[in-house]
Amino acid sequence: MAPSELSAATAVALSAALRAKTLSSYELTQACLATIAKDNPALNAVITVSEEQALADAARADDILARGDGGPLTGIPLLHKDIFCTRGVTTTCASRMLENFVPPYDATVVTRLREAGTVMLGKTNMDEFAMGSSTETSRFGVTRNPWDTTRVPGGSSGGAAAAVAAGFAPLGTGTDTGGSIRQPASLCGITGLKPTYGRVSRLGIVAFASSLDQAGPMTRTAEDAALMLQVMSGVDPMDSTSADIEVPDFRGQLGDSIAGLRIGIPRQYFSADLDPRVAQSVHAALQELQREGAQLVDIELPHTDRGIPTYYIIAPAEASANLSRYDGVRFGHRCDAPADPQDLYERSRTEGFGDEVKRRILVGTYALSAGFYDAYFKKAQQVRRLISQDFSRAFQSCDVIAGPAAPGVAFGLGTKTSDPLAMYLEDIYTLSVNLAGLPGMSIPAGRVDGLPVGLQLIGRAFDEATLLRVAHRFQMNTEHHLATPSSAGEPT
Ligand code: GLN
Repeated sequence: MAPSELSAATAVALSAALRAKTLSSYELTQACLATIAKDNPALNAVITVSEEQALADAARADDILARGDGGPLTGIPLLHKDIFCTRGVTTTCASRMLENFVPPYDATVVTRLREAGTVMLGKTNMDEFAMGSSTETSRFGVTRNPWDTTRVPGGSSGGAAAAVAAGFAPLGTGTDTGGSIRQPASLCGITGLKPTYGRVSRLGIVAFASSLDQAGPMTRTAEDAALMLQVMSGVDPMDSTSADIEVPDFRGQLGDSIAGLRIGIPRQYFSADLDPRVAQSVHAALQELQREGAQLVDIELPHTDRGIPTYYIIAPAEASANLSRYDGVRFGHRCDAPADPQDLYERSRTEGFGDEVKRRILVGTYALSAGFYDAYFKKAQQVRRLISQDFSRAFQSCDVIAGPAAPGVAFGLGTKTSDPLAMYLEDIYTLSVNLAGLPGMSIPAGRVDGLPVGLQLIGRAFDEATLLRVAHRFQMNTEHHLATPSSAGEPT
């Protein structure tokens, strides 16, 4: 495989080349590191490169491959979102608060992917503490969208999405609390999957909103996502919210037909908030699925418009509790020469957190305070139940739900930073899925003005296999996922 082909290749193709010995993991890793060195200055998608460790891991993978051992991910390079604790490698969550934090342990996801033989190249940029939809709140500066560097990559896993789209690595990890895997996947034209709550361990992932956070794969194809999810999934005795439920053979089911599958189209997902050109791409994608034998059925998700207000009570409430641990005492930023404990807490937090994080702490603390708990937090939990029931009802008449992943294509840098409510609208189609704990996925479905559009697929709890099967079928018959920013000028 020529070096130029490497950046667009999938993990599946690279793995075949590694096994055929036409490529070594060491060469592949060097090629990825060279691409990062060349193109990252323009994108700022990667904030830490762990070159020495990556080359050592690659050499080890080559030994395993030489013995004929290892699995489908052995020797494949990957980038972790900087929210995953990585032993000995700085884990900042893109915050000044954790700027110098070097974890003494690995997140379970990191351990599992390493044991599967992947090679970690470094850590990707993100919104501070995963709060945002544009990767503009990072302590380390904005990430730019490789399709158009005047635009955002989406967020909060925008670094991962931009990195995979730009060919820095075939695989990335992300986390999704309200849309942070699917929306950047949509805006960067890659495949992103948020698993069912509990499918993947949260141990070692810096907590944002504990009842919503899930980690998932960010890749070029559904097939690669299946390989990654296989490794990432499964109960973890160290995370009591991880589910002790069988992990199916995701890749084994990919080839199954989707004939007769009922795909629900929620009327509420095609409202005035949706860019009509995006709607057109999504409809064209749905027709493609219909050609494959799927049956499109109209469904209702009546509480869709309650998703944003509900999420923006629950997520900040949980965040305000989770972020109380950053007090300048045990880890994280500590202010200079505190006069007393109160001064230590106040100044450490004032200096360590950025504006959006502070906004969430204020909103969350307010919603949980004695006089307002019933009116806000309790009410939001009740509406959360209604949103969840909407999905249960809808899944009585369909097997998968499909619609847009985001209301538009990538927007200009700085265009929404001064208007938090406009930014919050980015997740209108994704965050209900987190509130209901269901799996969701975004796959490339076309382009508008040269910018990628994502098709979102939502499944029943623990039915990621069906999402992957639909996505794979779509990718076998279309070429949207093959387009890269460097090929953007060519007809697809
Ligand atoms: N954009 C949403 C927020 O700002 C979701 C973020 C996420 O999924 N981590 O909270």
